[in-house]
Amino acid sequence: MDCDKCEREAVMHAAYSGLHLCEDHFCRSVEKRLRRRVRDDNLLPASATPDEPQTWLIGLSGGKDSVVLTQILHDTFANDPRVELVALTIHEGIEGYRDKSLDACLELTDELDIRHEVVTYEEEFDVRMDDVVEKDPESMAACAYCGVFRRDLLSKYAEEYGADKLLTGHNLDDEAETALMNFLEGDVAQIAKHFDASLGKFAEETPSGVSSTESDEDDENDDSPRTRNDQNSFVPRAKPLRDVPEKEVALYAHLENLPAHITECPHSSEAYRAEIQQLMLSLEENHPGTRHSIMAGYEELAAVAADEFGIGDGKREINECERCGASTTGDICRKCALVESIHAV
Ligand code: SF4
Ligand SMILES: [Zn+2]
Ligand SMILES: [Zn+2]
Repeated sequence: MDCDKCEREAVMHAAYSGLHLCEDHFCRSVEKRLRRRVRDDNLLPASATPDEPQTWLIGLSGGKDSVVLTQILHDTFANDPRVELVALTIHEGIEGYRDKSLDACLELTDELDIRHEVVTYEEEFDVRMDDVVEKDPESMAACAYCGVFRRDLLSKYAEEYGADKLLTGHNLDDEAETALMNFLEGDVAQIAKHFDASLGKFAEETPSGVSSTESDEDDENDDSPRTRNDQNSFVPRAKPLRDVPEKEVALYAHLENLPAHITECPHSSEAYRAEIQQLMLSLEENHPGTRHSIMAGYEELAAVAADEFGIGDGKREINECERCGASTTGDICRKCALVESIHAV
C-alpha cells in the first residue's frame, strides 16, 4: 500500500484517521502533533526570552515514551534560547530493570548533549523497590508505593532545578485509560485534579507576562478556552505526547532508531489498568477513534469539574509536610508516612 501523501510505501495505517503513511510522513506527523500540543497548551509563555528562558524538566525513564518526548523536544528547541531542557531519571532500585533503561537515558542525553540528572529511592529515602515489595507494610500493590515516591521526587527536583514545567511522556492510550478509570470509579474530584494537574491549557500571556484569557483567533466560539487553576505550590506538569497513540510512539522510536528500553517492570501490578487497557484495545479495534473521542469529551467535562473542585481558589488547604516540607493536605505527606512504615518493618 502506498503512502497517502507520496509515492513511497506505507509503514503504518491509522484506522482512526484512515491514513496510510510512509516512514517520513509518519514521523513528521508525530512531531507535528507534539508541537501542536505544545502550542495549543501555551507551554511556552510570551514572557520567555533568551535572557529569561523557561526550564523544562523532562521525566526521562528510558522507556519509549519519554525517549521520544526528549528527542522531539530537543529537535524542536535545541536552537531556541527561550527553552532549556533538563532530563531527570529516577532509579527505583529494581534489579535488572532500571539499570538497562538508565543506560538508554545516558546514551540519549549524551548524544543530544542535554543536562541529565539521576536520583535514586535508595539515596533519597533509604528504600529500594525490590525491598518494598518484600516488606509491603501497607499491603498495597508495588506501584502504589512507587507512584508516591516518584511523584515526590519529580516535584522536589523540578523545584530544586528551578523548572518552570515538568514534562512527562504520557501518550494517548495512557490518558484515555486514566480518563476511563476515573469515570468508572465515579471519582469526579480526581477528574478535576487531572485537569488542573496536567490536562488544562496554561493561561495565555501577553509579552509583559500578564495572563490573559482571550481566546485564540481561530476559536470557533466566543467562549474563552478554560485554563487550568494555578497550583501555587507545585511546578506545573504537561504531557506533550498525549495526542499520539502508544503504538505510534513505539513505531517512531523504532524507525528513528532511538535508544529506548522496552521491558516490563517485574513489579508492575496495576491489574485494574491492565483490564482497562484490554477493554480500550478491543473498543478501539471495533470502533476506531474511541480513544480520541473519550479524551475530547473528558477534557470538556474535566474543565467543568475543575471549576467546581479546583484547588487553586482556596477550596482545599495546602500545608507543608512537618518532616520534609513537601506540599500536603495533612500534617505529614504520604511519602513520609510510607517511608516510615517501610522502615518500621
Ligand atoms: S511498574 Fe510500578 S513498581 Fe514498576 S517502576 Fe512502574 S510504578 Fe514502579
Ligand atoms: Zn509519504
Ligand atoms: Zn514529607
